[in-house]
Amino acid sequence: MLSGLRLVSEAADLAARRHKGMARKGRGNEPYINHLAEVAGILAEVTEGADAELVAAGWLHDTIEDTGTTRDELAQQFGDHVAALVDEVTDDMSLPKAQRRQRQIESAPHKSPGAKLIKIADKISNIRARIRSDPTAEERADLTDYADWAEQVVAGCRGGNAALDQMFDDTVKLARSSP
Ligand code: ZN
Repeated sequence: MLSGLRLVSEAADLAARRHKGMARKGRGNEPYINHLAEVAGILAEVTEGADAELVAAGWLHDTIEDTGTTRDELAQQFGDHVAALVDEVTDDMSLPKAQRRQRQIESAPHKSPGAKLIKIADKISNIRARIRSDPTAEERADLTDYADWAEQVVAGCRGGNAALDQMFDDTVKLARSSP
């Protein structure tokens, strides 16, 4: 078992390598790693650094979905718990977007406590990126649509961490008020 600091460092390292060259399309084209750093940072902040496996899973949360990394691979390097968390927040990309979105709403209440926290942190980061990118009218519509959906997913994830719930609410408020 890796120590907490090593676990988080190695997770950041693998995430950086696996997501190399990826950017967040239409959101200021930020490097993808910025999103992962933000999600991991939010999780570290709201748990006051008490859960290294959660923060490591934050770094790795999109590796199965977006980079072809397998759950087994993650389990081998980071342990079963981290691998299970990442697996839980992985969408089935063979489904069309509308169906994936619906499934996230329905499955959210059944996720483990840690997976729920990652889901909320992910939505916060995704909304912030859409605000930061100085959105066009079309992107504003996308932001509103995304925030509406994120609220439905997060409704099924709340209650595990009051600071995180508050951060999400503040972020949605900002999304609705930004010009
Ligand atoms: Zn993500």
